This record gives sequence, structure tokens and C-alpha cells, in this order.
Amino acid sequence: MTQGPTRPARFPVALDRVHGHERPACTDLLRPQGPLQHAAQDAARRSTPSGLGLDSAAVRERMVRRLRAEGVHCEPVLQAFARVERHRFVDSALANQAYEDTSLPIGSSQTISKPSVVARMLSLLMESALARERGHLGRVLEIGTGCGYQAALLCWLARTVISIERLKVLHDKARENLADRQGGQGDLRLVYGDGCLGHAPRAPYDHIIAAAGGDQVPPAWLDQLAVGGRLVAPLHDAARGGQVLLVVDRQPEGLIRQWHDAVHFVPLKSGSA
Ligand code: SAH
Repeated sequence: MTQGPTRPARFPVALDRVHGHERPACTDLLRPQGPLQHAAQDAARRSTPSGLGLDSAAVRERMVRRLRAEGVHCEPVLQAFARVERHRFVDSALANQAYEDTSLPIGSSQTISKPSVVARMLSLLMESALARERGHLGRVLEIGTGCGYQAALLCWLARTVISIERLKVLHDKARENLADRQGGQGDLRLVYGDGCLGHAPRAPYDHIIAAAGGDQVPPAWLDQLAVGGRLVAPLHDAARGGQVLLVVDRQPEGLIRQWHDAVHFVPLKSGSA
């Protein structure tokens, strides 16, 4: 993150102004301006002491209360949402919307999914046979790192997280966003490449989660899913005329599929760019 040489004093002054206020002052601080201001604002947000504006735990707690009211009851998932600072994963001009239940652009025509959809998918993973037995997700493969927000949540729920992104620019951005893993204890490995192939070197995975949807589940994902494990992915369903969440459990006797909610994810594309 670069900062214009003539502007270093600007943000401490602005931050003093937001003391004691939550959203409105921060919204003001994060108002879109020129690129230099953006870079400096990003730097300022990253170093803002906790307890101020968007850094306040209260802002995330409000989101958690809303998720709970909407039917998310998985406590470890809610705790992860309470911990990970979503506003640090989006452009500073959008940070004031970070705790709304909305998808947001993350660049390269991609989006970070709505918190309610992410919570739903993570809750489905936490309901797998393996997760119920162990209380955590074990080794997880995520397809579509994007800005890294979901990977940060996964680091609170899993022991090991392997996350693949096909766009180099987003892979690099996620690496920067996830430098501290937002406090999550899981071991995190970010991979640049085509997630349609899974990631054979670290297979099998107890859980696989995809943040992009295709017309079929790539065979590599099923091959790399451990017995007792679960895959959650958006999938285009011609009969329903849109994407739905597919859950696949690998049981000793075979694969069990269940269809869940209608969703709207960016397309799963092959190759890397
Ligand atoms: N979980 C992400 C959501 C990112 S959007 C987050 O929290 O930000 C979905 C991402 O999937 C996009 O970044 C897109 O580039 C990526 N993607 C699509 N097809 C892919 C593929 N075959 N392999 C890896 N990533 C893919």
C-alpha cells in the first residue's frame, strides 16, 4: 500500500475527529476521493486502533445479531463473523457498506458474497458428519479466494485452509488482506491456479467449498473429498432455471447429494489469468 509523500499528517487528524462516533464519522472518512487518498485511507484503516467506527466489535455484533435473526444458529460460524473485519477486504469507498447484507465488488468483475449466503454455506459445512464429530472443519479446500474474506472466516473454523484463485490480481490482493489471517488459527495456504482441478498435493479434504458456480461439479473435487467429508458449491440447475446450493456428502457407500437454496454466484471458469 503506497501513501502520497505530501499527505502523511492527514489521517491522524481525521481519525481524531471520529473518536466517540461509529458509522457516520467513518463514512465521512471513507468518502471516495482520488487514488492517493484511497491508498492513504486504506493505510489509515489498517492502523486504526480497535474500538473506532468500522473497527468496532459492535458493528460486527450487529451483523451477527441480524444473521442470528435470519436463522443462522451455528455458534462457531457466528463467532467467526464477529471476529473477521469485513471492511478490510473491500475497497475503502465501499467500506461503509461492509456490514450490510449485500454482495460487493472486489475488482476484476468479481464480488464478495452476501454475509447471509457465506454464513449459510459455512453452517452447512459445520453440519457434516466429520465436523459434528470433531467440532471443526479439519482440512478445507476453498475454490475462489477472491478478496480472502471467506478464507479468513475459514481460518477460525478449520485446522488447515487451502484456497485457490484463478486471477493473479485477486490472489495477490488476498495475500495482502490475509497477512494476519484476521486472528484465525488455521494454517492457511493460498494457491494461484485453476480450482477446477482442485489441489491434488494436499488432498484429500474434509470439506470443499466453492465461491463460483458452474454447470457441473468438477470431478477432481469429488475425487479429492475425504470419506465423511462434505462439499458445498453453487451449481447451475437447468430444471430450476438458476443456481442452487448443492451439498455432496462422501459416505463409505457413495456420494449423497442434496439441493438447497437458490443462490447467485459468479461463474466458475477454467484456466488462470
Ligand atoms: N470467497 C470469495 C468470493 C470470491 S468471488 C471472497 O470471500 O471474496 C469468486 C471467486 O472465484 C472469484 O475471485 C473468481 O475469480 C474465482 N474463480 C472462478 N473460477 C475459478 C476457478 N476455476 N479456480 C479458482 N478460482 C475461480
